[in-house]
Amino acid sequence: MTSPGGEETNGKVAVVTGASSGIGEATARLLAAHGYATVLGARRTERLARLAGELGPLSRAAHLDVSDPDSVARFCEGIERCDVLVNNAGGALGTDRIESADEARWLAMYQSNVLGTLRTTKGLLDKLLASGDGVVVNVGSVAGFEPYAGGAGYNAAKHALRAVTDVLRMEMLGRPLRVCEVDPGMVETEFSLVRFDGDAERASAVYDGLVPLGAHDVAECILFAVTRPPHVDVDRIVVRPRAQARVHLVHREPER
Ligand code: NAP
Repeated sequence: MTSPGGEETNGKVAVVTGASSGIGEATARLLAAHGYATVLGARRTERLARLAGELGPLSRAAHLDVSDPDSVARFCEGIERCDVLVNNAGGALGTDRIESADEARWLAMYQSNVLGTLRTTKGLLDKLLASGDGVVVNVGSVAGFEPYAGGAGYNAAKHALRAVTDVLRMEMLGRPLRVCEVDPGMVETEFSLVRFDGDAERASAVYDGLVPLGAHDVAECILFAVTRPPHVDVDRIVVRPRAQARVHLVHREPER
């Protein structure tokens, strides 16, 4: 099949949340390169529009705040067909210890990582099933099964997301839907910048002395899961830098 712009297309539509940077942007690029029409959602629409322009006429950008039920409802109503849903929007806010935890940050993390995923999945489920071979990929984290000091709010959110992924997989058994969670370790994106309130020095120190994953490395895992044949469900992919064996068990080489 050929698109109006002349690109090769597979006729399928992939919806990517949090496509304005990092893993979401890289995933949108890779899926588009593999023939998917893409719907890009995030709050920073100027970035999305630029990306959609780059990806061509089969790509379109739409405002999406997954923390806001009305925004998700509008976003989903605007989508006619959905074969693939990548629930990627989310992230961490701070590294507060429990004794000084800021509830507003906990709530915000729960809203974006957990309820956001619930809302987009609910909103697009009928369309995913109608496609005959729907795929949902939730972007979790190693933080979803490896708690660490200072991580409780984010750990709690990604643990909850993991439960949502597992339950969706069970509840959809017998229906034409594949459900996958991709759980990355350290990926160099805007993640740490957001986590540390825009403190660039603190954010870049996270990656000192090692080679972290890049967003494209995670996007390739997502592409792999999505492009398996309909009878193959890749339940979970855990991917980390070679230099990271556990969240805080990291090998750093000072000269890097
Ligand atoms: P990033 O560069 O900061 O990207 C986060 C994306 O999520 C942005 O596009 C952001 O877009 C979007 N987003 C955040 N809150 C949103 C909301 N309320 N509504 C809609 N979009 C929202 O970081 P990233 O590393 O690519 O993160 C992507 C996912 O990977 C997250 O779920 C994160 O938890 C997970 N992850 C990251 C790492 C890592 O080390 N980087 C490791 C494991 C898992 P707008 O701000 O424009 O809305």
